[in-house]
Amino acid sequence: MRFGSHISIRDGYLGAARHATKIGARSFQYFPKNPRSLSVKKYDRRDAIECAEFCKEHDLLTIAHTPYPTNLVADEKQIQLVQDSLLNDLEIANECGSIGVVVHFGVLKNTENPLEGYQRMIQTLNDVLSRWDGEALALLENNAGKSGPTGTTIEELVQIRQLTDYPDKIGFCLDTCHVFASGVWTGDNWSDVEAKGIELGYFEHLKAVHLNNSAYPTRSMKDRHANIPYGEIKVEQIKELLSSSIFGEIPFVLETPHESRFSHQDEIAYLNELMGE
Ligand SMILES: [Zn+2]
Repeated sequence: MRFGSHISIRDGYLGAARHATKIGARSFQYFPKNPRSLSVKKYDRRDAIECAEFCKEHDLLTIAHTPYPTNLVADEKQIQLVQDSLLNDLEIANECGSIGVVVHFGVLKNTENPLEGYQRMIQTLNDVLSRWDGEALALLENNAGKSGPTGTTIEELVQIRQLTDYPDKIGFCLDTCHVFASGVWTGDNWSDVEAKGIELGYFEHLKAVHLNNSAYPTRSMKDRHANIPYGEIKVEQIKELLSSSIFGEIPFVLETPHESRFSHQDEIAYLNELMGE
């Protein structure tokens, strides 16, 4: 399986790819630019192209992640910034040879009308993707529910994709911590989640998994990632999910705490051992 982790671009895009091979990763995720800002980055094209070549040579699959302030249902003041930033992320990801750019399902204030929020999100995706003709996809990620229930269900993800003008430019990224914390996956109902995802056409567009355990129980609506062996999701339950045949060769990327006593290198080795690889 293609286990990997989030990796810093401190040493550039190529540097991140080199680091991935050193820790035994077969995939990785990176922030294409400063994760705290929506400013457009003038990136080093040479570095990005070399990253793409290196990944091809070493059979590494990659995904990028939008900066934290990226909200697809941002208000009028912010939305232009969000759009330009997302387009910039898609360009960088494309040059790096990545599958796509993970972007969280939009977050609405509790006072806002959800239908209006969905409409703004569809509009934002249409505006960005009408200006985009590269290979990299926008990968919608399911929410944990910490800011309200929007974007936690498979139904919403599938519907939003279908209601845009450009479904072919959109895929999905499943975060296992979020799907557990939201209560969609309780840990005990994987076969139901799988059946529903197949029926709704979700899994055929799933391009990556954020493989995280959760520090809080199911239905807590909290977004706190934990290491695979040390969270509220039992290891057997994670193993059941990982054993599902629907995932194929897609990247499984850790976004878990990593310290010297349990590094991402250790966690990837742990996962390979767990899955008998
Ligand atoms: Zn995630």
